[in-house]
Amino acid sequence: MTCEEFEELSGAYVLEAVTPTEREAAQAHLSECAACTHRLQELRVVVNLLPYSVQQVNPAKSLKVRLFEAIRMESTSTHCHCMLPSVLSLG
Ligand SMILES: [Zn+2]
Repeated sequence: MTCEEFEELSGAYVLEAVTPTEREAAQAHLSECAACTHRLQELRVVVNLLPYSVQQVNPAKSLKVRLFEAIRMESTSTHCHCMLPSVLSLG
């Protein structure tokens, strides 16, 4: 698994919405990649702030997209605003 692949999976991983195979692959990557381990820790912080229960959420791509957009909007004030309407319409 590459860092990009992990990044795609990390939203679902942190919500425990991955398959056992995906989880193993993610853990294998984490064991050898400090950058992704750090990223995952940041993601967990964000997830803990989410105002809804993650238990009933499908591991839909839209959720991961929303997670990453939330992170990007939080960490990058110069992020393109053209992403904003699509994020809002997902909710
Ligand atoms: Zn990595």
